[in-house]
Amino acid sequence: MDFLRPTTWAEALAAKADQPDAVPLQGGTDVMVEINFAVRRPVALLDLTRVAELATWSEQDGRYRVGAAVPYSTIIGELGGALPGLAQAARTVGSPQIRNRGSVGGNLGAASPAGDSHPPLLAADAVIEVESRDGGVRLIPAAEFYLGVKRNALRPDELIRAFHVPAASGPQYFSKVGTRNAMVIAVCSFAVALHPGDRRVGTGLGSAAPTPRRALEAEEFLAGALDWEAPLDPAVLRRFGELAARAASPIDDVRGTAGYRTHAISVMARRTLTWAWHDHLGRRAA
Ligand SMILES: Cc1cc2nc3c(=O)[nH]c(=O)nc-3n(C[C@H](O)[C@H](O)[C@H](O)COP(=O)(O)OP(=O)(O)OC[C@H]3O[C@@H](n4cnc5c(N)ncnc54)[C@H](O)[C@@H]3O)c2cc1C
Repeated sequence: MDFLRPTTWAEALAAKADQPDAVPLQGGTDVMVEINFAVRRPVALLDLTRVAELATWSEQDGRYRVGAAVPYSTIIGELGGALPGLAQAARTVGSPQIRNRGSVGGNLGAASPAGDSHPPLLAADAVIEVESRDGGVRLIPAAEFYLGVKRNALRPDELIRAFHVPAASGPQYFSKVGTRNAMVIAVCSFAVALHPGDRRVGTGLGSAAPTPRRALEAEEFLAGALDWEAPLDPAVLRRFGELAARAASPIDDVRGTAGYRTHAISVMARRTLTWAWHDHLGRRAA
């Protein structure tokens, strides 16, 4: 197995262009498990850990650009105020060790339907920055990034460089059902992000379909039905839960049944919107 160790982004892109079947390695919390369990035997590993810029983030005019290698622990420690939904999701990932090494870039690379960063990225209108030596930069909206079970929109010679997301303009919440509180892959998960300026609510479902996805019908319903000055109408909340569940197309597996997942999505949708609405009205009153 070749072990490629670029130290700059340009070198990393060149290595991937020359050897498209090289498997990128960031925190290694997915890749090394797969290698150890012989799920895959890559002909080459492309170690990105020396490309320092991937582990940095920046902010300009309220938009955050977060490098692919920024670990969950940094998202929790440094970006929790600006990206609260993502930080909540990050707090539920694995253990402290996993959160110190694992990255959102790796979560996007793996594109598991159960990855915890995907629902908040979808709800917050994140855009994924990918690049190749010969094709240049592409900015892919999160909603177009997930193509199938563990399949994303990356071309063979492309790498994920960063993701872009606006600072939260309203309350954001993430909820995850697991068989215990820590070290568990989601049975299913749900995120909401309120965008009060646009009178809009963003959503993201996890582990409830072949890919992470938005509950578009539920979002459209809320855009027409919400009175942003008033307490939540119970009928609106109920309908939101029903429509969120309708966006799911889950399977039965060892972690849960399709029926349970569909029900849990509707419960989490109602719950997260209730929490977010409580904060929204509180901010207005303050
Ligand atoms: C004990 C344990 C608990 C876990 N718990 C959770 C959990 O609760 N929630 C959760 O979502 N995940 C969990 N995971 C999975 C894993 O930690 C996450 O998916 C994490 O985000 C992977 O990040 P990484 O940097 O380690 O990725 P890596 O393992 O380095 O890479 C993951 C994938 O992304 C690709 N990749 C990495 N960087 C790039 C790049 N720059 N461009 C293109 N492709 C790239 C790799 O080739 C690989 O396919 C757990 C894993 C373990 C071992």
